[in-house]
Amino acid sequence: MTAREGSLEAPTRHPLDWRNPDFYDADKLDKELERVYEICHGCRRCVNLCTAFPTLFDLVDESSTMEVDGVDKKDYWKVVDQCYLCDMCYMTKCPYVPPHEWNVDFPHLMLRAKAVKFRSEGARFRDRLLSSTDALGKLATIPVVVQTVNAMNKVPLARGVMQSVLGVAKARELPDYASRKFRPNAATSRTHAVKDGKNTPGKVAIYATCYVNYNEPGIGNDLLAILEHNAIPYVIVEKEACCGMPKLELGDLETVAKHKEINIPPLARLAREGYAILTPVPSCTLMFKQELPLMFPDDADVKAVQDAMFDPFEYFVLRNKDGLLKTDFKGGLGKVSYHIPCHSRVQNMGQKTREMLQAIPGTEVTTIERCAGHDGTWGVKTEYYANSMKIGRPVFRQMAEPSPDWVSSDCPIAGRHILQGMREGDAAGHARKAHPITLLRTAYGV
Ligand code: SF4
Ligand code: SF4
Repeated sequence: MTAREGSLEAPTRHPLDWRNPDFYDADKLDKELERVYEICHGCRRCVNLCTAFPTLFDLVDESSTMEVDGVDKKDYWKVVDQCYLCDMCYMTKCPYVPPHEWNVDFPHLMLRAKAVKFRSEGARFRDRLLSSTDALGKLATIPVVVQTVNAMNKVPLARGVMQSVLGVAKARELPDYASRKFRPNAATSRTHAVKDGKNTPGKVAIYATCYVNYNEPGIGNDLLAILEHNAIPYVIVEKEACCGMPKLELGDLETVAKHKEINIPPLARLAREGYAILTPVPSCTLMFKQELPLMFPDDADVKAVQDAMFDPFEYFVLRNKDGLLKTDFKGGLGKVSYHIPCHSRVQNMGQKTREMLQAIPGTEVTTIERCAGHDGTWGVKTEYYANSMKIGRPVFRQMAEPSPDWVSSDCPIAGRHILQGMREGDAAGHARKAHPITLLRTAYGV
């Protein structure tokens, strides 16, 4: 029986066939792009999701035939370049995803195109640099270098040079690098008895992420303080490389595989020892929950890590359900404008952060469930910066509406982008930015 449009069946995500030589065959890719572009042209549901679809529909509408066959194949790449792999078209809009016979997986088709381009052309220096979050973080956090990098990132003249030489948008507010990295300075867990719940393991391993390790160690420290307050013993994962998401977005799948070889063995060991693995950045969590399992479907270690991986608020809400989370909040947070990033939404776990924040007395949460348009490195690049701010505009407006005390997103990069957009629209008021983990710690008063 063929699947019908609008079927209520759960979508099936097929593994990424990236080791098959056909995956990299340019002609076969062109045929598949044409096939899927035709379906999208006839459907157009995703027109307001991002700038990839309007680019495609404009190309079709302005072509001589007003059909996909009138679009120059070279222009297919304009659509690919606008996709930052947020996955929203697959997860929320598309009625033609498998098991539908049309088998549309638009994000993974874009990923395949990026991989083909990367294999044939490589990537420009800027893209290789920005996607090397680990190497960049190690370099930028060296004493003295860190102060210089942070200072230069705020000097308009230096940013002008960065824009013209590197292609990093001058107007984009960049995060500071930390002078004390998270991983080497993380507090050791006190001894607590392990209390496994029905839904949650009673001990936790922290995969820090590049961003928390090098840019905002405070988020990691807040997470540890929450675990400590709840008497949940924890360890920091002994060895860690970048999760590989920035390289995936570049189409550099071989480097993703190299990162996986570093990360998965220690994580799999912890998973098998019964730890819950918590990752405080949604894109990194998604990498372990979804992308690596699709790239390595037969790897038992990847599967073990997938099964043990939690978003922190997913863990807290389930821990609460198990009756093992303290709710002895010392104070309310006031008005919180909370944004759910795309990479949290596609984890299909429900709005766990909202649930937790709403459980704090004296806290009024306004939830915005819409793409903010930054993506990891996409919105930093000169050629995409304006589009990134344009996509984010409705989010900036909705986040500002309640005159919030706090602006918060599970994705710390999106949070910064949103506050920048609010400030530029003169709508930030007295709002301060804080990660939801930081807000939870504040409410606990620990
Ligand atoms: S994955 Fe996201 S950015 Fe890419 S086409 Fe789909 S909605 Fe647009
Ligand atoms: S991805 Fe699916 S829902 Fe979106 S335009 Fe294409 S066919 Fe329609």
